[in-house]
Amino acid sequence: YLSIKGLSKSFGELEVLKDIEVNVEKGKVLTIMGPSGSGKTTLLRCLNALEEPSGGVFTFEDGFSLDFDKKVSKQDWLRLRRKSGMVFQSYNLFPHKTALENVTEGPIIVQKREKKQVQEMAERLLAKVGLRDKMHLYPHQLSGGQQQRVGIARALAIEPELMLFDEPTSALDPELIGEVLGVIKELANEGWTMVIVTHEVQFAEQVSDEVLFMDGGYIIEQGPPKQVLKEPKEKRTQQFLQRIL
Ligand code: ATP
Repeated sequence: YLSIKGLSKSFGELEVLKDIEVNVEKGKVLTIMGPSGSGKTTLLRCLNALEEPSGGVFTFEDGFSLDFDKKVSKQDWLRLRRKSGMVFQSYNLFPHKTALENVTEGPIIVQKREKKQVQEMAERLLAKVGLRDKMHLYPHQLSGGQQQRVGIARALAIEPELMLFDEPTSALDPELIGEVLGVIKELANEGWTMVIVTHEVQFAEQVSDEVLFMDGGYIIEQGPPKQVLKEPKEKRTQQFLQRIL
């Protein structure tokens, strides 16, 4: 679906991503793991055009390509943003809008789609994530797990080609993690193309087609989940897994 070559990103003097090469395969799940500060979130934000890469080339299967070694046009930038839907660690819902309004906002206001159709689609998506009865509630009336499921429905509502998840369960109480991971697994089974940053090793093993381990802005190791998570070749991956398991 997407090939990334030579992606780098600096914040001032600080080089956060260094010569990243990744292929995101259509219909597959790529999971990114690694210690805090290794650049995982920054990589996702570059994919969603929330952060501008300092260099590198993105080439999409449909022929669209972006070269960050040159100046990127506003039009291309918006085209990149429209390709993916992002689910954030801290949900980022609008507090004064209901679950339903949170889901319809992007398609109606930003994409200018027809209101009634969007409304129906949003209701369908909220039912899909198990919130048929909660659509008219506000975020503060929902549990963390429910809020995150609204976050997933909202990302799906813009009809993205790619779904991005940034540690979607790390703000949740342990008993609420399962319901969110369940929804993500369902999307994986439906054949969504997804990139997921997570610390949930067991989940990563079940859901991923490929696992990528990052440290210090570099990709240290990548491969099938069984290999990277069970028989990592690199010492840094071994140490990280020992620490979190
Ligand atoms: P975590 O698991 O803690 O979320 P991470 O692997 O996602 O970590 P990033 O959030 O990508 O790591 O951050 C990588 C590095 O970039 C960190 O050192 C962070 O302080 C730095 N960084 C991130 N965003 C900015 C920014 N807007 N300005 C300056 N430095 C930043």
